[in-house]
Amino acid sequence: MYERILVPTDGSETAELAVEEALDVAEKFDAAVDTLYVVDTDAVGTGLGTEQVERIRAGRFGEMDELEARAREATEHVAERGRERGLPVEEHFRGGRPHKVIANFTEDHDVDLVVMGSHGRSGVRRMLLGSVTERVLRSTHRSVLVVDEREDES
Ligand code: ATP
Ligand code: MN
Repeated sequence: MYERILVPTDGSETAELAVEEALDVAEKFDAAVDTLYVVDTDAVGTGLGTEQVERIRAGRFGEMDELEARAREATEHVAERGRERGLPVEEHFRGGRPHKVIANFTEDHDVDLVVMGSHGRSGVRRMLLGSVTERVLRSTHRSVLVVDEREDES
């Protein structure tokens, strides 16, 4: 039923919950797992030149290694959780607007299930869904499983 699962991660605790659920589903369906961290070029864009933004978009961070370190930390965590369970995870980094990059990725890689958190790093908990998740739901034709943060947190 599911052959290719994408877990977009921003390194947040809620994304980590989504990772566990994605791996559970992958195990059941013997699916391949991809993880993707998007450097939000709108958020980091102020203060950067267009050339730098172009490089980030292409996934080349150059001397901006702080960004790269954050991205790697997030995707490596997912890969590590997969390894512990004997599930290979492919890591990807991109730059751009997160929901667009995630939606494009689902098309380009023929992802048939996206598993993501209801919230992320910014922690605006008044909203039912974070804006990235809400926009991904609006932007992709693929199935999306939204994993809610634990009720006992907050
Ligand atoms: P907002 O960003 O709207 O202030 P938020 O940070 O609480 O709210 P989202 O950003 O929508 O919520 O995060 C929800 C989920 O979307 C995360 O758990 C993660 O799975 C995914 N996600 C968010 N940002 C990124 C990103 N930059 N790259 C990859 N995945 C992301
Ligand atoms: Mn966010």
